[in-house]
Amino acid sequence: MKTQTHLLHQSKINNNCPECYSTEGLEFSFTQEEKENKLYSRASKEIEESLYCHTCNQQIFPVKWTEDIERVYEYHKKLAKPKSSGIKLKPLAYILIISDAILIGALIYYFK
Ligand SMILES: [Zn+2]
Repeated sequence: MKTQTHLLHQSKINNNCPECYSTEGLEFSFTQEEKENKLYSRASKEIEESLYCHTCNQQIFPVKWTEDIERVYEYHKKLAKPKSSGIKLKPLAYILIISDAILIGALIYYFK
């Protein structure tokens, strides 16, 4: 299984950083993981969010978020559109399914 991380939405916000009080460093990122193997891929149901301050170079964890940051977070969360978490078959899976169908068809034909 390989895991890929998709960046769904990223946005700079001009709130005060709870650590360094700069209004220029904060950036929200919303990501979603997608696991895949040779036959199919499946995106995770959960979206992970992180708030990073480029001024003091650290991640700001939700316990430090102010009410204003929470509000901005709610707004940006709506903009992060997750990929559907259903199973997506890859071409190899279709090839296997089709070659199985041909094989079964051939057996039915042979034993008729
Ligand atoms: Zn900061």
